[in-house]
Amino acid sequence: MSESELESKAEDAESALVVASNVDISNCDLEQVQLVGAIQPHGALLILKEPELIIVQASANTLDYLGLACEALVGETIKALLGDDYAEALRLRIAETHLTDILAHLMIAPCRSRPSQRFHLFGNRVDGLLLLEFELIDEDRCQMPQSDLLPILRNAFQSMRCASSLSAFLDFAVVQMQLITGFERVMAYRFDEGGSGEVVAEAKAPGLEAYLGLHYPSSDIPKPARRLFAFSLLRHLPNVDYVPVPLFPAHSPLATGKPVDLSYSFLRSVSVMYTDYLRNMGVKATLVSPLLKEGRLWGLISCMQHSEPKYLSFESRISVEMLIQTISMLLADRENFDQLAYRLRLDQAIAELVSALGRVETFPEALLSGGANLLSVMDAGGVALIADGKVSLLGQTPTSHQVSMIANWLLQKKATVFSTHQLPHDFPPSSDFRAVASGLLTISLARTSSDRVIWFRPEVLSEVHWAGDPNKPVEIVGQDDHQLRLRPRTSFQLRKETVHCQSRPWLGCEIDHATKLRQAIIDVLVDRAKLLARANEELERSNQELDSFAYAASHDLKEPLRGINNFAEFLRAEDGARLSTMGSSRLETIIRLATRMDNMLESLMQYSRVGRNELVLQTLPIRALLEQIVELIQQVNPDQDINIEIQPSFPEINGDRVRICMIFQNLIMNAIKYNDQEKKWIEIGCDSTQVPPVFFVRDNGIGIAPCHHELIFQLFRRLHGRDEYGGGTGAGLTIVKKAVARHGGNIWVESSEGRGSTFFFTLAHWQDRGAENQ
Ligand code: ADP
Repeated sequence: MSESELESKAEDAESALVVASNVDISNCDLEQVQLVGAIQPHGALLILKEPELIIVQASANTLDYLGLACEALVGETIKALLGDDYAEALRLRIAETHLTDILAHLMIAPCRSRPSQRFHLFGNRVDGLLLLEFELIDEDRCQMPQSDLLPILRNAFQSMRCASSLSAFLDFAVVQMQLITGFERVMAYRFDEGGSGEVVAEAKAPGLEAYLGLHYPSSDIPKPARRLFAFSLLRHLPNVDYVPVPLFPAHSPLATGKPVDLSYSFLRSVSVMYTDYLRNMGVKATLVSPLLKEGRLWGLISCMQHSEPKYLSFESRISVEMLIQTISMLLADRENFDQLAYRLRLDQAIAELVSALGRVETFPEALLSGGANLLSVMDAGGVALIADGKVSLLGQTPTSHQVSMIANWLLQKKATVFSTHQLPHDFPPSSDFRAVASGLLTISLARTSSDRVIWFRPEVLSEVHWAGDPNKPVEIVGQDDHQLRLRPRTSFQLRKETVHCQSRPWLGCEIDHATKLRQAIIDVLVDRAKLLARANEELERSNQELDSFAYAASHDLKEPLRGINNFAEFLRAEDGARLSTMGSSRLETIIRLATRMDNMLESLMQYSRVGRNELVLQTLPIRALLEQIVELIQQVNPDQDINIEIQPSFPEINGDRVRICMIFQNLIMNAIKYNDQEKKWIEIGCDSTQVPPVFFVRDNGIGIAPCHHELIFQLFRRLHGRDEYGGGTGAGLTIVKKAVARHGGNIWVESSEGRGSTFFFTLAHWQDRGAENQ
C-alpha cells in the first residue's frame, strides 16, 4: 500500500470519528473511541481466527514493521510470519493464557522476515477473534536499565509510605513518576463529584508553566475515555502528530460489520479530539494512567512531553504500572488516614448519641437535646429532624416550612442516604436560603414514612482557576460542504470564577457515618417498638384477666345479694308491722343498700362485658341507629319537653353495633338527666372534615366545671348526691370511654357550669389517620 493511500485511509478513519453535520458537545460523550479501526504506528496489529490462527485482518504497516506486507499476510496462518517453532510456541502459550478482558504479554519472538529483531507479542480475545499486537524491542530506546529502575522503585515506595498527608503523598508520587519515566511534566489530577478535574500535584521541568491548582471541565475527559481506563492501566501516545494506521482489509471480519473492538489494545488509535486538544496545549507525547481508590476512578496521573515525541518501552512501562498500582493502593490508606481523627470523633459522637437514645423517653428529645445530639455527630451548620410529620430544628437551618419543602422534594429521590453540596443547583427553590443550606446530607429513618434527618451546610464562596473557559470546552469550526467540525478549545488561558451556591463538600467518611447512624437509630426504634408491643400485649392480657375477674366476681356476688334482698323483703312483708320504728328504718336501709349494691354490680358487669368480648365490626348506618335510640328514650320520658336534633347524614363507620349504641344511649341519657331546663335541647352530629371524624352530643344542661372534666370518666365517680338527677352509679361514662377505646378512639368533654356540655369522641386510631394521609 502506497504512503498516500495509507494517509487517505487514515484520514477516513479519523474523519469518521468526530465529523458530523449535527455536531454538538454531547458528541464527545457518544464517540465510540474503541471502534476506531486504526492503530498508532509504534507497533503492528494482527487479527486472527482461532484455532487455525489464520490472519483475517492486519494493520497496514506490517511491511515496514514486521517485514511482510499486510496483503500477503491476510489469509495466511501465523506460521507465515513466525515460522513453525515460534508459531507452535505461541499456540501453546495462547492455550494456557487467559486472554479475555485483558491484554496479556504472550512471548518474545523474532519474525521470519526480520530474524535479527525481536518483538514483544501481546494478545487479547474479543468477539471470538484473537488480537495479536507486536512491539519492537529496541535496546537503544529502553530508557533505563532494570538494575537502575529497581532501587528507584524501592525508594519511591518508601518515601510515599512515609508521607505525612495526602498532599505530601501525591507530591512524592509525581516526582517518582517523573524520575522513572523522564517526562517533562507529571501531574496528579483529582476528579470532583461533577467529574471536573483539579491538578493537585505537579512535577515539571524548569521553565515550564505551572498547571498546579488549575481546574479542567469534565468534558475534557469524555465518558468513553473514562470507560477505557477500566480496561488498561496505561494509555500511551508517543507522538501526538502520528498518522493513524488503518487495518487491511478495511471491512470488518465480524459478521456484524462493526469494526473489531480495540478496547484492550495498547496500539489503538486515539480520538482526533484528544490529539487536537493536546496539540492546543502544546503537548507532543503523553502517558496517562487512572488513579483508582477502592475500585473507583479517583483521578489520573498524566505525564506530558512538550518538546518532542516520547516513546516509553514496555520494560519501563512495567515499572510505571507497578508504581501506579502502588499509588492507587496507598491512596485509599492515605486519604483514610488523613480523616482518621475526624472519623474517631464521629464514631464517639454516634456512640454517645445512641446511648442517650436508649435513656430518653421521647425520640426527638433524645436526638436534639443534651450534649450528644444530631449536631454533635456531624460537622454541619444545623440539623432538622422530621418525625411523625413534625419538624424540629437545631442550629442554623432553613425555616420549618422550607425544611418541609425540601423533605417533599427528597421523597422523590427514594434514596435512604443522599447528599449534595450544591442544593440550589439541584433544587432551585432553595436559592432563597442558600446562606444556611447550600449543602445537605440526609438519612431516611423509615422506608414507608417521610421521617428523616437533614444536616445543612452554609454557602461557602470559593474561587476556581480554570484552564480556559469552562463554559466553552469545545469550539465548532469549518463549514465547508456543510460539515461542522468539533474542536477542543484553543485557549487554556487562566479563567477565574467565583463559585456561589455551594457548600463544603461532604466527605466519604461523613456519608459512611450518616449511614451507620441511620442503622443505629432504626435499631433503637425497632427495639422500642418491640418493647412497646410486648408491654401492650401484656397490658391487654391483664386487662382481659381483670375484666373476667370483675365479671365473675360481680356475677357471683349478685346471688347472695339477691338472697339478702329477698329475705329483707320477706321480713318487711311478714313481720314489718311488728318491728319497732328503729327496726323498720334499719330494714329499709338494708333493702336500699342491697338495691344500690345490685345496681353497682350490674354496672360493673356491663363495664367488664365491654372489654371482654370481641368486637363484631360492620358498617353502621349511624343516623338510622340514632333515630331508634332517640325513639326509645323519648318513650321512657313521655312527660318531658325534649328536642333532639340529629344531623342529616353521618360518615360511614366501621364499628361494633352493640357498643356504638351503648355509647350514644349513655351520652343522650346523661344529656337529659343532667339538665334542669324547662325545654331540654340536644344536638347529635359529626364533624367529617376531621380525620378520623369527630362525633358529638351537645346539650343545654347543667354543665360540668373544667376541674371535673377528667374525673367524670372514672369508675363510680359522681358529681352529685346519690339521689340527685335521677340517681346513678357513676359508671356510665367509664363504660362509654371503654367502648370508645376499644374502637381505637378518644373521648373528651367541653363544658362549664350552667352552660351545657358537649361530649366529643372518635372511633379510629391516630395511626389510621397517618395511613390515610400517605
Ligand atoms: P351515671 O352513670 O351515674 O350517670 P356517669 O359516669 O354517666 O354517671 O357520669 C358521671 C358524672 O358526670 C355524673 O355524676 C354527672 O355529674 C356528670 N355528667 C355526665 N354527663 C353529664 C352531662 N351531660 N351534663 C352534666 N353533667 C354530666
